[in-house]
Amino acid sequence: MSTLFLVGSGPGDPELLTLKACKVIKSAQIILFDNLVDQKILELAPKNCINKFVGKIPYGEQVSQEEINDLIAFYCSRYQRVVRLKGGDPYLFGRGFEEWLHAKRLSIDVQYIPGISAMQGAGLTNIPLTHRGVSNGVWALTATNKDKEFSSDLTLAAQSTSTVVIYMGMSKLAQIARTYVMQGKADRPATIVQYASRIHQKHVICRVADLVTVSKTAGLGHPAIIIIGEVVNLQQSLPPLNQIAHVI
Ligand code: SAH
Repeated sequence: MSTLFLVGSGPGDPELLTLKACKVIKSAQIILFDNLVDQKILELAPKNCINKFVGKIPYGEQVSQEEINDLIAFYCSRYQRVVRLKGGDPYLFGRGFEEWLHAKRLSIDVQYIPGISAMQGAGLTNIPLTHRGVSNGVWALTATNKDKEFSSDLTLAAQSTSTVVIYMGMSKLAQIARTYVMQGKADRPATIVQYASRIHQKHVICRVADLVTVSKTAGLGHPAIIIIGEVVNLQQSLPPLNQIAHVI
């Protein structure tokens, strides 16, 4: 009887892996991993474990979901402990539940191990997602739907006073800015956080209307998350950046 472990590897820093995930990786026979998984996490696996990259590199080559599903079926028919390792949390924009359903249809035992998502890692910039009296909630959206089009839900989210977090939004910055400008909210504070929780983490803060120019000037790119809302201004209640020890 084989088990497929659907594991979240966290936002990047290997130390943000859960103990449960660490335990499962240490006894894995096969690991099918994505491109946002840190090498140090893979090094936890036993020497004879087969580590297979099945990532989807943005704008580059992709292993299709069908191929990944076939690999899951193939390895689960031959090995007992197969790990499917995904960046962040598998059920947040990770297609994790598609793989859960696929395995269940094949009568494979599946165990889900949650991971810390990128938006939680972004809190390492000293910007919280909620803060009493400032933001009562969080919208977590992808800017790009399954047909690679701009997600219309942002128009709804932009009307709210809650924090808006956007995954996969770097190629849609102009549309994001336009959505807010059209609603008269050009001045809403925003941040772009690249490589949240990794050593080369960096972020910029700007008005939502200026996302494109500021991102270009700072040379930001994938993987990055965009956070829009009054919580972004909370960072300014801190001492000047050169007086505090945190990664930028
Ligand atoms: N399941 C993942 C999200 C996968 S979608 C999670 O829960 O985090 C991929 C998107 O996640 C990227 O386009 C980017 O928007 C975001 N992302 C992933 N890791 C990130 C990181 N370390 N820093 C900033 N954004 C990240």
